[in-house]
Amino acid sequence: MIKANNPNRKSWLSVPADSDFPIQNIPFGVFKTPEGVVTCGSRIGDTAIDLAALQQLGYFASIDLPDGVFLANDLNDFISLSKDLQRAVRDAIAEVFDDNTATLQNNKAHQSAVLHDVHAVEMLLPVTVGDYTDFYSSIEHATNVGKMFRDPENALLPNWKHIPVGYHGRASSIIVSGEPVYRPMGQTLPPNANAPVFGPSKRLDFELEMAFITRNGKPLGERISTTEAEDYIFGMVIFNDWSARDIQKWEYVPLGPFLAKNFASTISPWIVTLDALEPFRVASPEQNPEVLPYLKARKDGNFDIQLSVSITPEKQTEESIVCQSNFKFMYWSMAQQLAHHTVGGCNIKAGDLLASGTISGKTPDSFGSMLELSWSGKNPLSLKTGETRTFIEDGDTVTMRAFCQKNDLRIGFGMAQSQLLPALPME
Ligand code: MN
Repeated sequence: MIKANNPNRKSWLSVPADSDFPIQNIPFGVFKTPEGVVTCGSRIGDTAIDLAALQQLGYFASIDLPDGVFLANDLNDFISLSKDLQRAVRDAIAEVFDDNTATLQNNKAHQSAVLHDVHAVEMLLPVTVGDYTDFYSSIEHATNVGKMFRDPENALLPNWKHIPVGYHGRASSIIVSGEPVYRPMGQTLPPNANAPVFGPSKRLDFELEMAFITRNGKPLGERISTTEAEDYIFGMVIFNDWSARDIQKWEYVPLGPFLAKNFASTISPWIVTLDALEPFRVASPEQNPEVLPYLKARKDGNFDIQLSVSITPEKQTEESIVCQSNFKFMYWSMAQQLAHHTVGGCNIKAGDLLASGTISGKTPDSFGSMLELSWSGKNPLSLKTGETRTFIEDGDTVTMRAFCQKNDLRIGFGMAQSQLLPALPME
């Protein structure tokens, strides 16, 4: 077993009930301290841990880590190290904060250099994303969208059950939770019109997704098999792939979405390692027809991650949950996605981000986008404030949460939250 995952371990740091961040999680992120220092860190309960300070004070002395690897604006250098070294760091953090370890627990001076109230630090983007790919791997989502955008009788295209369908997205507009999003302007074709108009999107939507961050891959031309794939996955984040449905509908033929999805995507700030998610492995849905040999993968390549989306209108405090879904509904596993991505010889690098695609379940309350929840605007949703929504309005805050729960163990991601602001005016 992975040492840091020991479910019996308790920390001398206090962990609130129902926290996403018990000592068994030990995620990785980047934050700015109240003193203005940017550092890579981890988190237990509501305490942010400065890993650069921890290394400087000698707590990783037994691990062969490059000096100052955590004194960085992103985790890319750390993610470039071997999986064994990353495991050793996570194990060492678990040990230092274990109730039975006295060193840092008894050293107040060291504690003041290493520990911060998580609410007092500013969370930054955890990785510099080199390349971002978005899949389309939920059969329920692909079926729903196919029914609305194309043909209810043939909702799934003939390739869908043979290929983990995806497209290359835009890395530069990936933002961290807390940053706002501007409503995009663009071209749309109004109903019954022959020519497009230009203006702010009228059908602004979220997409409930999870994404994985990769380690360094292999040289260009080589491929990563499904058996090897998980060794190339560092961890996961929540991913809100903001989408402008009216722009998408007009522009997406024949090459797929472009401006409809390149204006912003929000991620949660803590990368939860695949190691921490190990206890929550579940079987993938059965794949029928059988997939080609290079896509055959372990049956338990999926993870039971509970997901929710809520909307909070401007100047309100009450959130309304509009969707509850689960990552385990994914038809294609991450290993299959990565194997397919590289089978043509495409290389991956540390810090690349591969997103799942919208995660919808079978029931209408588990649909992962407003497009599906309101069925293309036909069925408005009621919020607790008495308002209704078909799509996202200016001023709305969209909050996505994700956590795993098994017996007493809860490992979570915190949240990916952004407020939608009105479109910036044209010059
Ligand atoms: Mn998407």
